[in-house]
Amino acid sequence: MNSLVIPSPAKINLFLKVVGKRPDGYHEIVTLLCRIGLFDTVVLAFDQTGISVECSHPRVPQDSGNLAHRAASLFLNALSTHDGVAIFIDKVIPVAAGLGGGSSNAAAVLMGLNQHYGLPLTDGKLMEIARKVGADVPFFVFRHSAIARGIGDHLEVYKDLPPLFVVLVRPLFEVSTAWVYKNLNLGLTNCEKSLKNGYFEQDFFKVKDLLCNDLEQVTIRKFPQIKIVKQALLDLGAETALMTGSGPSVFGLFKDGHQAAGAFHSIRHRGRWDTFLVGLLRP
Ligand code: ATP
Repeated sequence: MNSLVIPSPAKINLFLKVVGKRPDGYHEIVTLLCRIGLFDTVVLAFDQTGISVECSHPRVPQDSGNLAHRAASLFLNALSTHDGVAIFIDKVIPVAAGLGGGSSNAAAVLMGLNQHYGLPLTDGKLMEIARKVGADVPFFVFRHSAIARGIGDHLEVYKDLPPLFVVLVRPLFEVSTAWVYKNLNLGLTNCEKSLKNGYFEQDFFKVKDLLCNDLEQVTIRKFPQIKIVKQALLDLGAETALMTGSGPSVFGLFKDGHQAAGAFHSIRHRGRWDTFLVGLLRP
């Protein structure tokens, strides 16, 4: 069978400032996004009639509601072709956990299809389609750590990230991103306003208090367990610990791999959560 296998990584937000609300209801943010070594596998099978999606996770849509389906549809339309594609997603990235799994799958489909057809679309055109699928999709097409602005879709490469180990803890409940933004009180957000290259230049952790997520306070108010997970990671030696995206996943950052492994083994069976030990994908 004519097919393509594409690794589809998760992301974490090392910084997330909400700067305002647009008239159309979307929030403007400044965020530092980094891919991590936790992957779904996306398989594309060609020579098909129509677009189909199968996913190993029971609660992920297997129809046009799947972001990967939408990405394929927009791509094939842009090529004005009636070709089809069958998409298979082996889900490892926790769903609705602030890890961008759906967006990453959509980006994997866009990049895989572009490769299959001999790169007919420029990076710019691919980004334009990515934007139509969702705010985080352009970041995964970009394939670099990045400062994202706007609704998260205007990207600038971020060069200064050191090699870090990540202990990721995902409490076993899901959080709706829409609910978090609805309950955000912009007057009470407190992350630094600006973020630019060089922000963490000299010593990443000298400025660790600047690592901040404006959405954390909203999610913690409803799910105090997030605070407990953060404290557990700090007690186990994490340089810093933060919720990613709208949550509920929390990551601890470690300079030292042995210490990260120790923390991972210590925390994994302590609570009702899934735990992963991964690295940042750089640059
Ligand atoms: P976001 O912050 O964009 O809401 P997230 O990273 O918290 O996303 P995802 O795993 O991307 O979480 O899932 C968000 C929702 O998108 C889920 O409720 C799921 O039903 C839907 N969805 C659509 N396509 C996918 C996909 N390919 N993988 C995962 N979820 C998908």
